[in-house]
Amino acid sequence: MSASPSRQAAIAAANYQRVSNTLDFQDSHNAVLFGRNVFTETVMQARLPKAVYKSLKKTIETGSPLDPTTADVVALALKDWALEHSATHYAHIFQPLTGITAEKHDSFLEPDGRGGAVAEFTGKQLIQGEPDASSFPSGGIRATFEARGYTAWDVTSPCYLLENANGVTLCIPTAFVSWTGEVLDVKTPILRSMKALDEQARRILKLFGHTNVAMVTATAGPEQEYFLIDRSFFLTRPDLVSSGRTLFGAKPPKGQEFEDQYFGVIPERVLAFMHESESEMYKLGIPVKTRHNEVAPSQYEIAPIYENANVAADHQQQIMILLKKVARKYGLECLLHEKPFAGVNGSGKHLNWSLGNSTQGNLLEPGHTPHENMQFLVFCAAVIRAVHRHAGLLRAAVASASNDHRLGANEAPPAIISIFLGDQLTDVFEQLKKGVAKSSKKSGTMHLGVDTLPVLPKDAGDRNRTSPFAFTGNKFEYRAVASNQSIGTPLAVLNTIMAESLDYIATKLEKAAKGKFEAAVQAVLTEIAKEHSAVIFNGNGYSEEWHAEAAKRGLPNLRTTLDALPVLASKETVAAFEKYGVLSKRELEARRDIAYEQYCKSVNVEANLVIEIAWTKIVPAVTRYQTELAQNVAALKAAGVAADAVLLEQITQGLSDLKLGLAKLAEERGHHVDGLVAETAHYCNKVLPIMLDVRKAADFLEGIVADDLWPLPTYEEMLFISK
Ligand code: ADP
Ligand code: MG
Repeated sequence: MSASPSRQAAIAAANYQRVSNTLDFQDSHNAVLFGRNVFTETVMQARLPKAVYKSLKKTIETGSPLDPTTADVVALALKDWALEHSATHYAHIFQPLTGITAEKHDSFLEPDGRGGAVAEFTGKQLIQGEPDASSFPSGGIRATFEARGYTAWDVTSPCYLLENANGVTLCIPTAFVSWTGEVLDVKTPILRSMKALDEQARRILKLFGHTNVAMVTATAGPEQEYFLIDRSFFLTRPDLVSSGRTLFGAKPPKGQEFEDQYFGVIPERVLAFMHESESEMYKLGIPVKTRHNEVAPSQYEIAPIYENANVAADHQQQIMILLKKVARKYGLECLLHEKPFAGVNGSGKHLNWSLGNSTQGNLLEPGHTPHENMQFLVFCAAVIRAVHRHAGLLRAAVASASNDHRLGANEAPPAIISIFLGDQLTDVFEQLKKGVAKSSKKSGTMHLGVDTLPVLPKDAGDRNRTSPFAFTGNKFEYRAVASNQSIGTPLAVLNTIMAESLDYIATKLEKAAKGKFEAAVQAVLTEIAKEHSAVIFNGNGYSEEWHAEAAKRGLPNLRTTLDALPVLASKETVAAFEKYGVLSKRELEARRDIAYEQYCKSVNVEANLVIEIAWTKIVPAVTRYQTELAQNVAALKAAGVAADAVLLEQITQGLSDLKLGLAKLAEERGHHVDGLVAETAHYCNKVLPIMLDVRKAADFLEGIVADDLWPLPTYEEMLFISK
């Protein structure tokens, strides 16, 4: 394959199937590795005085306030444990509103006053940090002169050790707030919403006659999709380096049409990478379970076993960091962007969510005859009501410049939020609309016609991949979540709107007269089935008819981030979030404004990249080719041979289209617009379409310019020789 020198070098490097790193997998069994770098309950029990351990465990298990006197004792044990594992530093880990993970490291060492140093770590240092908050987005909450911010230890998410080739750091999961106490992070709303959910869910359980009711927790199991491409290609594509997605690139001759990638054999180098990244995750106690090839070429997925939602959110951040880090050891780059490549599937994060406790189990478990399971139906109805009332918010919670390319495209859920319930439950709710539900459709079994094969249970509901919010057996799967976003905000939204619905139902049921409880349940289920079934849709979410039907049903279709963001601080959102003390109006508005800012910044960076790459890489290459063709035509004419100038004309036309688009883009990019909403509208409606025009012209040229001159690695190269 001939190509420009930098592309040539990239191809040569990528074509090299090396696996230079090897794990000592025979000697380090996963069972031994699991949780090795975590300050687990077992470690705590072994190292803490009995009373302190009990008090800490109570806080973790019941959400009761932490006894402040225990902090010093825990700090000492943590320090000893960390030092024994060669730690030199500790870090408060938090998630500011950029959505990334932030960490501030401090050394354990303090001068002893006699020329030496001792390792120090007090309860205060464990509980509270004071990172300067001024460089994190605050959406106008905090003026820069009030720069102070606090990180506060989250007792419910375990501390862990971060290993590096040259040292170890003790990491402490924390929440992050401004000095006035306003929330500046992703974690705090998860914790607050989980508390609200617990309170409301327990009210319902008590109404159902349970006397022993443990704390109810939201659970989360996020499936992460990602691409892996050879790092040498990545490094020669400034668009991937700086924006995470390709802003140019013609469709390759072969795409994903053979459907030969999904669940296909995992390439050798990729599997080696998976083994190592998973073993790093095991060390941190992250229960990763499944891995497989995804639909698009060079696309993969990893999913953990579900956990307490707060811990799952922290682990999810770790998973993303580790995927990126370990990939580089294998000469690969992990792309977490929602749509790194046009024309093939994008990546999402299916957020599986449920709620439950140790005494009543999973509260979304329907059993075999859901129509008789009133308690399940109440919880399920609460979800239906919550999603219907707050469909716009569920869209807004996943809105970003990058996710806009995926939602509503032809492979991802549409921007209309609806619920897939499956045949069996839809039928039960249809019955409920009219009164009592008397039956559940049977799921039955499948016989495969070969005696040696087992008889398989048939799912009562088939899967529906097009639904943005699907009931999948005993949990809901929120599929619109973006692949590179933290699951924190989507979780906080789910928990809060669910708490609101459970509160609504509990309030009704508590009013029921003695002996009339069942009738009251029946009535509220019928009411919800009647008023909120509009959100249930089991059909094809990609179809045109659904868009028309959804509009008829009054479901919001918030196509872009611009359309969706106002809902983040709408009257209904504020009412729900303030009622349960999750976020105030001001905090919600701040989040919305930060999301607007992030959108504008992302598109602006992309526009800059389009201009830079086009002028410095594409235009020069095309001009060279144009000159070569012109010389050829002139030479032929001089020799008296008929010269065909069609290609030269096409190149010239393409180049002129490209330059025209670039001129327009430069003008619109520099255009000053006042106000966040207007600026977002400008980027969405003006800048993005011109970027697409420029791309169209460039992609056309890519198809006709001599390959040895083309400066950017092609889709074919990146997607098919990166294994
Ligand atoms: P699929 O791709 O078929 O949807 P996977 O096995 O890849 O299924 O992922 C299912 C995910 O759902 C896993 O992360 C799993 O832990 C999670 N999950 C299962 N039960 C629950 C639950 N009760 N609460 C939250 N997540 C759950
Ligand atoms: Mg799934």
